[in-house]
Order: sequence, then C-alpha cells, then structure tokens
Amino acid sequence: MRRFTGDHLLVATHNKGKLEEMEALLAPFGIRVTGAADHDLPEPEETGTSFVENARIKAHAAAKATGLPALSDDSGIEIDALNGAPGVYTADWAETPNGRDFVMAMRKTHELLEAQGAPHPRTARFCCTLVLAWPDGHDEVFPGVMEGQVVWPMRGEQGHGYDPIFQPAGYDVTFGEMDRWEKNKISHRARAVEQLKQALGG
Ligand code: IMP
Repeated sequence: MRRFTGDHLLVATHNKGKLEEMEALLAPFGIRVTGAADHDLPEPEETGTSFVENARIKAHAAAKATGLPALSDDSGIEIDALNGAPGVYTADWAETPNGRDFVMAMRKTHELLEAQGAPHPRTARFCCTLVLAWPDGHDEVFPGVMEGQVVWPMRGEQGHGYDPIFQPAGYDVTFGEMDRWEKNKISHRARAVEQLKQALGG
C-alpha cells in the first residue's frame, strides 16, 4: 500500500458536514485539511453506480486539477426494505431547484417505507468509501459501514444529511442526537478513516 506522508490533505468535497467530520477525524494524525472550495474546484459529475466508482471520480479529478494527493468520500444510506435505495443516490434524493433539502429527502424516505408497509425495525446502513488518489493516477480505497435502522419522526439537531432518522445499532439515539465526538467514534466515516490510518504512516 502506498503511504501518505504529508501534513496537509485536500479533501475533495464541497459538503461542509463531511469536511468538518474529516477535519476532526484527521486532526489526531496532525493532518491539516482543506476542502474543494478552498481550491476553487468544480464539482465533478458523479456518474458511477457504486460508492467506490464515485469516490474515484472525485479524488482523481481533484488530484489532477491541483497536483496534490486528494481524499474523497462517497457515502450514503442503504435501506433494506427499499432494496438498498437511496444508496449512491442519497444526495440526489435531496435535490431541489433551490439546493438540497434533507428534511424533504427524509420525509420522502419515510413515506416510501410507509407506503409499502415496511416492517420494523427498518434496517439500514450508512456506507462510506474513502479514496486517496495521487496526481500520478495511483489510488487506495478504504471502506467503512455502520449498521442501524431508519426511524421516524426525525430526532436531533446535530450532524448533517440523514442523521436525524438514522439510529445506529446498539444505541437508542439517532446520529442527529449524538454530539460530534460521539458520532465520530462509531460512524461509517470513522470506520473508513480507521482503514485509512494504514496509509497515514501509522
Ligand atoms: P455524496 O457522497 O456527496 O454523493 O453524498 C452522500 C450523501 O449521503 C450526503 O449528501 C448525505 O446526505 C448522506 N450522508 C453521507 N454520510 C452521512 C452522514 O454521516 N450523516 C448523514 N448523512 C450522510
């Protein structure tokens, strides 16, 4: 596995919630993080049909554009009763003409589950695939998964995206009710970062 030995990593995302989580997760390694917006990077089209394909598109586009090693995160929630949807389309379900609306996306998710009378618990998992790409085209892939269930109504004001309707397995609170430190100990992203550690020289 190729090692990353720098002290600054470009995280190829425009998502503020993801960027803040990666900042907190990488701080213990002495790695400073900048985001796609800091480098004026455009958002590449995510044309892949899997988390790894989309993560590769984002990481390689950023590494090529800047000449820096770049880390990308492609993530989403898979709901069993919806045959794994929204999956790689998790962000798309929140799209509106005026930007992303996650309350709408969570309501839509709940209504679909109700419409088909999905039994409880409505098992689901958050998946995160990190890709670390170098400007010469090499990459390394690090996956992480957190199992849990989708609940309703939405609970909690913390976090981002679908956090208020995801209750991780073994907990009676949602990600939206956990503080950042607590979520960052157990999340799909934390688990992927756990894998990434192997490439961080430690
Ligand atoms: P993408 O990886 O940019 O395609 O977007 C993935 C989408 O999945 C995000 O916009 C969020 O809605 C959702 N998502 C990913 N990780 C999390 C998380 O930790 N909490 C809540 N939602 C998440």
